Amino acid sequence: MTASSQRPLERMDIVQELERRIRTIRDFPEAGIAFKDITPILQDPDLLRYAIDALAWPFLRDGVTKVVGIESRGFILGAMLAHRLGAGFVPVRKQGKLPHTTVTEEYELEYGTDTIEMHVDALEDTDRVLIHDDVIATGGTASATHRLVRQTRGDVLGFSFLVELDALGGREMLDASVRTHSVLRL
Ligand code: AMP
Repeated sequence: MTASSQRPLERMDIVQELERRIRTIRDFPEAGIAFKDITPILQDPDLLRYAIDALAWPFLRDGVTKVVGIESRGFILGAMLAHRLGAGFVPVRKQGKLPHTTVTEEYELEYGTDTIEMHVDALEDTDRVLIHDDVIATGGTASATHRLVRQTRGDVLGFSFLVELDALGGREMLDASVRTHSVLRL
């Protein structure tokens, strides 16, 4: 049964329903990873709207002007979140994917490093930036994205995630003076 055939959901119900529909895939993409698959939420029209509303509500009155979304699943909800907040959208991509001049940040993975980029002219001094990804795990990607924004312009006023994997402590990697909102903490 989809949420649309039930009574209107309260905020707590919505969070529970979103949690229930996140699918955990063991050992994907490699052994030992419990992958949080958000596609069951994306494919349900009601849950998709609830997810965007739940991501947006803490920032509705903050005058966000740009949502910076992290490749690749951060593009999906991030672009919709930008639309919901009346903001623009800026993609952060893996090295070599963006066509114009970029700023670059390297960050540590469990084995080796990874590099992300953002267009050098994507932000303006007056921008009020919300950084979004679908999942925060160790926090390395989100904190590297914060450093990317700092290399250019704009004031980061929040981090936004659909899912925070509490046990991995990613929140500790983020600037504590910036608000972090996760719809689900698992
Ligand atoms: P991290 O830098 O460790 O916080 O990893 C965050 C990035 O990896 C995000 O772009 C997530 O989409 C992805 N990611 C890491 N762990 C998971 C997981 N268990 N399930 C789904 N996505 C994950």
